[in-house]
Amino acid sequence: MTLDQGLILDGLTITLGDRRLVALSLAIRGGEVATIMGASGSGKSTALAAITGTLPPEFRRTGRILLNSKDISDRPTRLRGVGLMFQDPVLFPHLSVGGNLAFALPAHVTGRSARRLRIDAALASAGLEGLADRDPATLSGGQKARVALLRTLLAEPKALLLDEPFSRLDADLRAQIRRFTFDRAKAAGISTLLVTHDVEDARAAGGPVLSPLGETLPL
Ligand code: ADP
Ligand code: MG
Repeated sequence: MTLDQGLILDGLTITLGDRRLVALSLAIRGGEVATIMGASGSGKSTALAAITGTLPPEFRRTGRILLNSKDISDRPTRLRGVGLMFQDPVLFPHLSVGGNLAFALPAHVTGRSARRLRIDAALASAGLEGLADRDPATLSGGQKARVALLRTLLAEPKALLLDEPFSRLDADLRAQIRRFTFDRAKAAGISTLLVTHDVEDARAAGGPVLSPLGETLPL
């Protein structure tokens, strides 16, 4: 598989004891959203853990993970350039909304006013203008989800992993946040891998849909 810009799982397999959980060969271009779909316990989060470099030692991995032509399979997590979003938006409760976003800004954005500008622009881009000084606990579910996504994107990841991030939202909000997330990832040219057990999520992603064992799933 060749792809200069994007995330490649090159014969990635993961086994736990004698049970094979993951067998994936997949290339996700920048701006594309691929989906791994499967029942609870089938190995979806395990596949993402291998990509972020947080696989527990009892799992055995073979194969390679390439991001923008570089083999990141054995790199420390913080050096992989991979962003991860979970089911529950994790915002630091002791920081303001702006403080949460500042935490993710890369070191190359220097100076207090430049950093503040980036944060205000990010909030405005998500329809959240003026919320920088708010306590995250006062935000609605949809606002929290958007702040969590902004925070992940401000770190300028090259790949974005989404571990059932929409499942706690009710139907209307779910469709809206899902659209927002995919649009932002596409606009930033980020390779995105969505994990879900929801067919609507997989359809909305618009890319290939595979089981953790690499079977192509019809929608
Ligand atoms: P999914 O995300 O698809 O629900 P997971 O990838 O979390 O599934 O889990 C896959 C399998 O690995 C499950 O059978 C689960 O019980 C097992 N598992 C997950 N984490 C560990 C661990 N740290 N140690 C041993 N087994 C684990
Ligand atoms: Mg899981």
